[in-house]
Amino acid sequence: MSGKDASRQKLHIAIVGSGPSGFYAAEALLRSGRNVSIDMIERLPTPYGLVRSGVAPDHPKLKQAIAVYAGIARDENFNFLGNVTAGRDISVGELQQTHHAVLLACGAHEDRTLTIPGGGLPGNHSATEFVGWYNGHPDFRERTFDLSHEAAVVIGQGNVAADVCRILAKPFDELRDSDIAEHALEVLAESKIQEIHVVGRRGPAHAKFTAKELRELGGIADVTAHAKPEECVLNEESRLELEDRANFNAVKNLEMFGAFAKQVETRGQRRIRFRFCLSPAALVGRDRVEAISFVRNRLEGPPFSQKASATDQTETISCGLVLRSIGYRGVPLDGVPFDGLRGVVPNVAGRIVDGEKPLRGLYVTGWLKRGPTGIIGTNRADSIETVENLLADASEQEAKSGADALLPLLEARRVRWVSFAEWLKIDAAEIERGKDKGKPREKFTRIDEMLNVLE
Ligand code: NAP
Repeated sequence: MSGKDASRQKLHIAIVGSGPSGFYAAEALLRSGRNVSIDMIERLPTPYGLVRSGVAPDHPKLKQAIAVYAGIARDENFNFLGNVTAGRDISVGELQQTHHAVLLACGAHEDRTLTIPGGGLPGNHSATEFVGWYNGHPDFRERTFDLSHEAAVVIGQGNVAADVCRILAKPFDELRDSDIAEHALEVLAESKIQEIHVVGRRGPAHAKFTAKELRELGGIADVTAHAKPEECVLNEESRLELEDRANFNAVKNLEMFGAFAKQVETRGQRRIRFRFCLSPAALVGRDRVEAISFVRNRLEGPPFSQKASATDQTETISCGLVLRSIGYRGVPLDGVPFDGLRGVVPNVAGRIVDGEKPLRGLYVTGWLKRGPTGIIGTNRADSIETVENLLADASEQEAKSGADALLPLLEARRVRWVSFAEWLKIDAAEIERGKDKGKPREKFTRIDEMLNVLE
């Protein structure tokens, strides 16, 4: 075959995962000018990953990215295969047989572990469970959260902690018009929580909230945000960190913590209490969480590398609910190298490597590539980088059949895959269900309910 003929042949790419990084990779492939055909495999019948099941229901603007993804999905060279689990219904090895390249975009959906005594007590949950529950993710539909206690503790000071804190703190009326799952709204409506302690292991200069999210926490109706003045005093290293112009987010955060430290105590209002330099040491309680004990930390190390180091001081906070929000990790896939320490797939600019050696036809993007950092848009540049390398390596010379080979395999295994047109039917049914309640949609929270729409 001449080089010219070969370039006319289709390049079949399988993308595993339908969140932002997967869709931005699809967009880059479709815009590349190469003759590509994309099969996007997704574990759930529903697309969009964390934009659907991670972004908080009271942040609808962040979900506008969905319109872009839906446009990509309508391209004639794009195929959505929902309700198909890579590693179970089809192996990565099989996808390598059917496609020229396999691009993993399955995110980081496991929690970083926090092993402390009492960790098994009821009332201790990861933020992942809580977020999945209020966002109607089928994996978390049956979880229960007891909000009948007066105090909750959120461990970690990133934007996920901000989200869960806001959902706990916001008046019910401010959530009822959102796409929050009905089962969660009912429980939140009865919540007795008055105090939410949001606890960081390092200082106020190290909180990872973006200033916008922190400001929002300070501005919730009928809620006051507090910080302890003595915990807002900075050491010399932290002061030096703030002088770095690139660290302006921390400067803004500090200004807000300073203002929170001046807030007067109010009665009858919910309170958010930001606490610093405390690491969880043990959960305390007879049959369920009644308190959490912390060890006080001092900061050690040079600017920008300060670490929390335990002192002999301790503090106990009474609470009936603990939400751990300390970050995520990727999950290993059979046949793909995995860096268990970082929770990512080892790669060089998106090319998956085994030691130093790039593995032919295997790529990664998004949180599984770089770790759980950045906002939705961060994934666009990340996916463009991976796709550039994928296309540089790819050769249409090798004959691959893509979906023509994949679909018979799925059918033989009786996998009920869901096309994009079918997802649009589920989508329309969800929007319809929301209408009476004044909500943008009422999500289906069980997979069989979603599939029933397609009967
Ligand atoms: P994150 O920003 O990395 O925050 C994790 C927090 O957990 C940090 O405060 C970290 O403290 C703490 N932590 C880690 N290990 C700990 C331990 N063993 N004990 C106590 N604390 C510990 O992660 P995230 O909040 O999960 O967010 C993930 C990404 O999604 C971020 O990039 C975030 O901005 C993004 N996101 C964005 C939005 C939005 O734009 N609205 C919403 C949600 C999430 P150290 O700093 O000391 O490690």
